[in-house]
Amino acid sequence: LPGPDVEALTGDDVVRLLPQAGVESDKYRRGVVGIAAGSDRYTGAAVLSVGGAVRAGAGMVRFVSSAEPVRYVRARWPEAVTTVLRDGAESSDASQASQAQGSDGSDDPLREVGRVQAWVLGPGLGTDARAHALARAVLAEDVPVLVDADGLSLVAGDRALLRRTAPTLLTPHAGELSRLLGVPRAEIEAGRLEHVRRAAAELGATVLLKGSTTVIAENGHPVRANTTGTPWLATGGTGDVLSGIAGALLAGGLSCYDAAACAAYLHGLAGRDAAGGGPDGRGRAPIAALDVALALPAAI
Ligand code: AMP
Ligand code: MG
Repeated sequence: LPGPDVEALTGDDVVRLLPQAGVESDKYRRGVVGIAAGSDRYTGAAVLSVGGAVRAGAGMVRFVSSAEPVRYVRARWPEAVTTVLRDGAESSDASQASQAQGSDGSDDPLREVGRVQAWVLGPGLGTDARAHALARAVLAEDVPVLVDADGLSLVAGDRALLRRTAPTLLTPHAGELSRLLGVPRAEIEAGRLEHVRRAAAELGATVLLKGSTTVIAENGHPVRANTTGTPWLATGGTGDVLSGIAGALLAGGLSCYDAAACAAYLHGLAGRDAAGGGPDGRGRAPIAALDVALALPAAI
């Protein structure tokens, strides 16, 4: 894969780019990441995304969703500060909207969440009206936003969501990029470099295209390719962990381009370690997505 205009980060590059904890650190300066994810049907994606952020070293994780995913996140990650979206907060229906209004009369679903330095939007979120309203609110914030999974479906159906003031990082696999660009999946797979570059140009965002080799494009930069992973990562939920890692790094002050590349690197390494290393280092036993999150501190 590497060639003209394609580079790969080394471990030393990643160490140099990662936020370090110093004596003057406090949790707010280390980075507060907001995660808007999960739905009654998909609670696990939310737990895994929060886990990626917690174990990648976020100063604080603020999680916002409906009651059921909040219950699961609180049970697994007591570190996270959670906000339950009130019923109707997402509705444009007049009676429900008034019920959701705060004392200041606003109907912003994020008004009770507190300050965050970067957002992760999408894992397990669903694509209903509630999800769409939450996506609109998150993407209207003037901080970096990572969009993954159902968030990408919402953006594919409403490109106006991407007209933003702050940077955006999209993290599709080939199927999600196919929907975003309106190009058949087979064409994406046959020309991953070309299509990741084209997506960055067309969508005005940093784009991380997942796969056995993950490629990252941003206008004006060489494509970055990551090969630290292992085929054992091909299991449900590992992408959700990746979103949390990259979100934590964005909140820590890394650019979309650097956060994406460092997250892919660490995610791959943690996957290998969780899978037991082995002679070639690429692992020799199955892993669960949560194992990847738990392996992050050692990988870092
Ligand atoms: P998702 O498709 O969102 O579930 O994300 C899957 C994650 O696993 C991504 O980070 C992929 O890069 C990674 N992954 C999937 N298959 C492979 C593979 N064969 N080799 C290495 N990494 C993989
Ligand atoms: Mg995914």
